[in-house]
Amino acid sequence: MPTYKIAIVGAGPAGYFTAQAFQKAQNEEISFSIDMIERLPTPWGLVRSGVAPDHPKIKTVSKVFEKIAKESNFRLFANVEVGKDVSLKDLRDQYDAVVLATGASKGRKLGIPGEELTNSLSAADFVPWYNSHPDYVNTEVDLSSDTAVVIGAGNVAMDVARILAIDPTELDPTDVADHALTKLKQSNIRTVIICGRRGPEHAAFTAPELRDLPKLENTNVYIDFKQIQEAESRVAALSEIEKDLKNNLEAMKLIAEHAKKGVERKLEIKFLAAPIEFKGNNKIEEVVFTQNQVENGKIISSGEKFSIKCGLVISAIGYDSVEYSGITIENGRINNIAGHVEHNLYTTGWAKRGPTGVIGTNKSDSTDVVELIIENLKEPKLSEGITSLLKSGHEVIDQLAWEKINASEMISGEIAGKPRIKITKWRVISAILKK
Ligand code: NAP
Repeated sequence: MPTYKIAIVGAGPAGYFTAQAFQKAQNEEISFSIDMIERLPTPWGLVRSGVAPDHPKIKTVSKVFEKIAKESNFRLFANVEVGKDVSLKDLRDQYDAVVLATGASKGRKLGIPGEELTNSLSAADFVPWYNSHPDYVNTEVDLSSDTAVVIGAGNVAMDVARILAIDPTELDPTDVADHALTKLKQSNIRTVIICGRRGPEHAAFTAPELRDLPKLENTNVYIDFKQIQEAESRVAALSEIEKDLKNNLEAMKLIAEHAKKGVERKLEIKFLAAPIEFKGNNKIEEVVFTQNQVENGKIISSGEKFSIKCGLVISAIGYDSVEYSGITIENGRINNIAGHVEHNLYTTGWAKRGPTGVIGTNKSDSTDVVELIIENLKEPKLSEGITSLLKSGHEVIDQLAWEKINASEMISGEIAGKPRIKITKWRVISAILKK
């Protein structure tokens, strides 16, 4: 029976679901030996550094990842960077197929004047900051003003706004980064305004996330009821409302109807507000918007402008894949056809399709790519795989080492009444592994 060598680059949800699809595809006629390569010393990608700390249920998918990792045909090579520690070309020579599951971690830019002012941040920097991503622990975040603006009407904007708007003590029992929690507890921000450039009917939020908002105990979430009603009539006039949209509008109406009184923290969702300029003297002080309107289903500017004074802006308007040697990025994604890049090189997840879909979307996506890879496989290569490529003495974090780190994080978390305390320093990881 032939055994094919598969390298998966990136240990996030798309990477694990690809490994799982290969495991499920094994039978008496074909088997796979899977090596997962990850730049960071820890796996799980966005489940660790993207999912909001106050949404722990979403993170339980990591149990599935650990089950996949326990299979005998799976090996983890974390702390190995493709392009630095091993080249993509060498990997492709050693493996029958290489799957790039490297995600999209570069925040998109608005491209408007003032975007580079201090305290105008991308969600791509802010989210990993509060989630203890080792590359972002030093992100400069100033929470001294009373108002923050979040640009974008998607779930990332909502995560970011919620983290800024809730009472930080609500984050005590979560795995939010200690450095972020300390700052959030000193924060002066009491008003957070999410601004979507189109109408409520075009928002990229999903209903379960919207439905969570009225449950916030210490934050008054506000949406103008009239805006939702107007959106409903616009949509009804065009065609039948599809289910997801109906659920979204219903959830927004619930928010509008359940304004909380007597709480000082406010999270507002504004629609039809397109940013055109950030103003300030070195640091952001004001966002200027053009007031949009919907006409015959199209978004047009009304010609009116308004501005919001604020001391922090976070743009959550999507992500692009990071460029690295040996791949071409087009429209923010790795150039591919149905996941095929070229010869034995494939891609999956956000790197393949762009930054859309929830964690589970990567499952079907990866299954499709694996089917395509299997169709294209030829004779298995006789090669040694990644171990022949790494310099001697390179400190790989394998599955066993990761399990030690994982256990250590959970033990420190238990003592502090949290799910875990994420380790961000290599020095600490080294010490744990020497024990
Ligand atoms: P997203 O869902 O694509 O939302 C991006 C938002 O940015 C849209 O409202 C978009 O508006 C807006 N935008 C884009 N360019 C803009 C510009 N130049 N000016 C103003 N606004 C602009 O992206 P995301 O929020 O980053 O989320 C990525 C994916 O992760 C989504 O599939 C999301 O559902 C998922 N996610 C899920 C969860 C969860 O399940 N809890 C949490 C976080 C993320 P237009 O529509 O007008 O372009």
